[in-house]
Amino acid sequence: MRVLAISDKVVPVLYSGGIREHVGDVDLIISCGDLPYYYIDFVVSMLNRPSYFVYGNHGKEAEYWSNNQVMSGPAGATNLHGNTQVTDGLLLAGLEGSMRYNSAPRFQYTDGEMWGNIARLIPGLLFNRLRYGRWLDVLVAHSPPFGIHDQPDRAHTGFRSFLHLMRWFKPSYLLHGHIHLYRSDTVTRTCYHQTQVVNIYPYRILSIEPELSR
Ligand SMILES: [Zn+2]
Repeated sequence: MRVLAISDKVVPVLYSGGIREHVGDVDLIISCGDLPYYYIDFVVSMLNRPSYFVYGNHGKEAEYWSNNQVMSGPAGATNLHGNTQVTDGLLLAGLEGSMRYNSAPRFQYTDGEMWGNIARLIPGLLFNRLRYGRWLDVLVAHSPPFGIHDQPDRAHTGFRSFLHLMRWFKPSYLLHGHIHLYRSDTVTRTCYHQTQVVNIYPYRILSIEPELSR
């Protein structure tokens, strides 16, 4: 299964009529947050495949489009935050936002609050385990885990709770954004127990097979 994952920055070659030639056939679109809704909407309508997203810490209550539409999220994509979904046999779950660093009302969490979000996933993960024999294939997050691709400032510190989640529920992938890359030698893919942690910024095409994930 070819997955187009996008995050944090509008990439001109994807926001153009040439997107199909550039990415080829993809089966699934995933957004890891902090992207304008019009961009996700464009990618989803051009490729016309199942699409899922989480909000980043800069998620907006409303985006105003030139045709007078007011958008509270990307049209045509499903919000994965705090829930599990199955698409083409691939088990997905999502966790939005970043570490809390100011008093913004939404999309920032302490590690304790992120545990609360993880708790909301547990019934779906248990169901997956019973139905499919595994908990989860891909965790879609905005923030990285603590100590993996994260940075020392508060806003870019990763979540310790994600480390526990990976050890317990063994997703094949944790996809995240939030950490912008300015050097070509920055590490963007790290193996943690049975999980590949991948920084998506600004986009990646991944080959993920649910059956082969164990
Ligand atoms: Zn961010």
